[in-house]
Amino acid sequence: MASPEQLAVLGATGSIGTATLDVVARHPQRYQVYGLSAHSQVQELAHLCQQTGAKVAVISDPERYQDLKRALAAAGSKARALAGPEGLLELVEQDQVTTVMAAIVGAAGLAPTLRATELAKRVLLANKESMVIAGPLFRSTLEHSGATLIPVDSEHNALFQALPPDHQAGLARCGVEQLILTASGGPFLHASESDLDAVTPAQACNHPNWDMGRKISVDSATLMNKGLEVIEARWLFNAAPDQLDVVVHPQSIVHSLVRYRDGSLLAQLGLPDMRTPIAHALAWPERIESGVAALDLTAMEKLEFHAPDRNRFPCLALAFEAMQAGGSAAASLNAANEIAVQAFLDGEIAFTHIARVVAHTLDQAGSHGAASLEHIMAADREARTLARTVVSQRIG
Ligand code: NAD
Ligand code: MG
Repeated sequence: MASPEQLAVLGATGSIGTATLDVVARHPQRYQVYGLSAHSQVQELAHLCQQTGAKVAVISDPERYQDLKRALAAAGSKARALAGPEGLLELVEQDQVTTVMAAIVGAAGLAPTLRATELAKRVLLANKESMVIAGPLFRSTLEHSGATLIPVDSEHNALFQALPPDHQAGLARCGVEQLILTASGGPFLHASESDLDAVTPAQACNHPNWDMGRKISVDSATLMNKGLEVIEARWLFNAAPDQLDVVVHPQSIVHSLVRYRDGSLLAQLGLPDMRTPIAHALAWPERIESGVAALDLTAMEKLEFHAPDRNRFPCLALAFEAMQAGGSAAASLNAANEIAVQAFLDGEIAFTHIARVVAHTLDQAGSHGAASLEHIMAADREARTLARTVVSQRIG
């Protein structure tokens, strides 16, 4: 058997990170964990390093470097400690690392994910925000480096599975008319506008079908998650904005669909467990066991589909507008949303103000272009400042 793939898991302590380590542990002949990262959870990171035999541990908050060294020693791990955003780059740059699971949350994941792509690693992309804010840059980098990038986000992984293998040659050439992303609708699918005003962080993070990190849980509740995913799909599959559509499907069994010219609609189905897309991305083009139970279709009561309500969930409309605007608008949208979601989780603004903070920020943000990392980071920084001002003025 070939030597095992050497894996770096960025965001190893998160929901996707731990699900990845669960799948990997089922295939010790196939995968070895070379390095793991976390932002500030030193104990969890040290414990995971000891468990997996990782050789490198990165704590991206540089203040926690000494804590990490102590925690690694206490946990009995021999992993080399690195810190800060540079530590993330150093990990993915290691020659031994063949595969990078990009599972950091937010724009903080962009630099190491882009570097892994430049270095032609096998990139498994969960960190949707990086594709949203730097889509054109990823496309040109992929063309130059020849890296393989496989989407882990369940909708995009479903689309990848339902598209023909040569889809990167162009959707039209494959007879594809539309990419249809399914949305669960989140925990407030049927809530009235006044109910939405009073939503608490605990309610917003209590997703009916998926067990996820707090930021993406809030994004799912506002439907910003689906908006970000539409932009992610645009760049992953080189789709025109009018080729992308969203349909609400509360059961989260059909993970997305591809509509072909001849009337065919191809979908991928499965239980809502991220280990399926993670295992698919890890092993593609092969298939490996993921630990996910088989889907029993006869046990399904019903599978429903309906149009999203863009009035009650304005974040979805804002994301479509940013996609149409192009340039740095998606980076501004994403940064404003990160600030607004954190302010909501910290009890500073109401749930319904998240969309208002994003809208106010987009109104005021300049146009920076998206040709380079510097342009994107300038748009990101400006939008964070604008959004923080809106939050502090409570006009959100
Ligand atoms: P999470 O909050 O559970 O974990 C995030 C991880 O990133 C943690 O390891 C944390 O330590 C690290 N991190 C946080 N802030 C960081 C920073 N500033 N710098 C570096 N590292 C940082 O999040 P998650 O739910 O696992 O989501 C991770 C990514 O995957 C997100 O982009 C999310 O949108 C995407 N995603 C998640 C799911 C899911 O089911 N959880 C599904 C699809 C896509
Ligand atoms: Mg998704």
